[in-house]
Amino acid sequence: MADVSTGFQRETFAADTTIFRAGDAGEAAYVIDSGCVEILLGPEGAQRRIEVLAEGAMFGEIALLDGLPRSATVRTLVPTRLIRIDRSHIEGLLQQADPVVQYLVKVLLDRVRSERAARLELEGFERQSPRSATELDPDERLHMAALRTLSLAQSLSDGLRLGQLEVHYQPIVWLSDGRVAGLEALVRWRHPALGLISPDEFIPLAEKTGLIHRVGEFVMQRAAADWAQLRGLCWGQAGAPAFMSVNLSAPELCAPGAMQRIQACLAEHRMRPDELHIELTESIVISSVEVVTHVVQALRGLGVGVALDDFGTGYAGLGYLQTLPFSCLKIDRSFVERLHRGERSFHIVKSALELSALLGMSTVAEGIEDAETGEVLRRMGCTFAQGFFFARPMLLVDLLPWLQARADVASDLAG
Ligand code: C2E
Ligand code: CA
Ligand code: CA
Repeated sequence: MADVSTGFQRETFAADTTIFRAGDAGEAAYVIDSGCVEILLGPEGAQRRIEVLAEGAMFGEIALLDGLPRSATVRTLVPTRLIRIDRSHIEGLLQQADPVVQYLVKVLLDRVRSERAARLELEGFERQSPRSATELDPDERLHMAALRTLSLAQSLSDGLRLGQLEVHYQPIVWLSDGRVAGLEALVRWRHPALGLISPDEFIPLAEKTGLIHRVGEFVMQRAAADWAQLRGLCWGQAGAPAFMSVNLSAPELCAPGAMQRIQACLAEHRMRPDELHIELTESIVISSVEVVTHVVQALRGLGVGVALDDFGTGYAGLGYLQTLPFSCLKIDRSFVERLHRGERSFHIVKSALELSALLGMSTVAEGIEDAETGEVLRRMGCTFAQGFFFARPMLLVDLLPWLQARADVASDLAG
């Protein structure tokens, strides 16, 4: 009988039934629901009982995990009911697990195998054949991946403590007149041995290890603190004040108290809610629509801007735009860079701009690297632009003089 909730199967066996023989493939492990079994070792005809297992015990688990043939034969002694756990089920779970967990399972498995082999050798049984080099290779790779994850995770925690994380700011400009409207805060890790590490490398690691909450808090606090020096150098318009944009990951968004922390940060740094934009990627929105809906509505209720980041990369329909009151749509670089290379990108960007206008959202085109693309987007009605053509992300010390120089030019023009 299959248990619908777990996918595990219960099977009943008569007394003296062989469940599996030595040499069989390890396709399933069993938990004894009722009854008992004997474990037999040794060659056919000269088998010796080494153990009797009763209710609650598990057998076949090692072969199930490492896929090597069974070393023992198992036979029921009385009518016995077993819960069957299929290998495919466990493999699926292990594949989803963190490399560290996968690696721990492998280490424990090898240890149990070698201890068992040594014990059996002592008892006069044949030793298991050693693993071939090809079998060891994936383990080796797993070992390396796990060690790298563990060591980077450990040093990221140290890096946070030692102040190795820094926030760079990339200007976002009004396409209408090229003035700086706001900034996006982008985190980097200045590793003492490895140099500047990109967020694409360490944010996923931080998300897996839970360090993302400390990383996120650091970025939010630093950006809000620096805004005091930056707001006067950016240009707002009626109903659209100058802004600081901060990226939020899924675990941060879903954490209890996320909203209170944002509010406390705004209050501490005397930042107006409408001066803060939170950027959420389309993939986050799709993966947890319910939480996101709640948070986006709460943020908008506070007056904080919420931008839909990497728009167009999530392969989602547009249904969620009906319920999620985003204030801004950021069109992903992959569409912007192909704008004058293909009709399709042009139509996609055009539709996104029209949709935003209809829904009352502003638009940012990401990744503009040349003047022509900026000009095309300006004529198409896009509100803001961000890209290396205008400015790369900069540290505050470099950004302040850069903004100052631009503000001087802008005020000369105005005067
Ligand atoms: P994103 O939010 O899409 O940020 C824009 C990325 O595009 C930045 O990469 C920026 O440097 C890059 N970029 C901007 N203009 C151009 C351009 O013209 N050409 C090209 N080729 N690239 C351009 P960066 O700083 O490496 O950040 C990568 C991603 O890491 C960000 O993508 C964001 O998803 C994530 N990230 C960065 N900082 C944070 C953070 O504080 N928290 C979280 N959760 N994620 C962050
Ligand atoms: Ca972003
Ligand atoms: Ca983006």
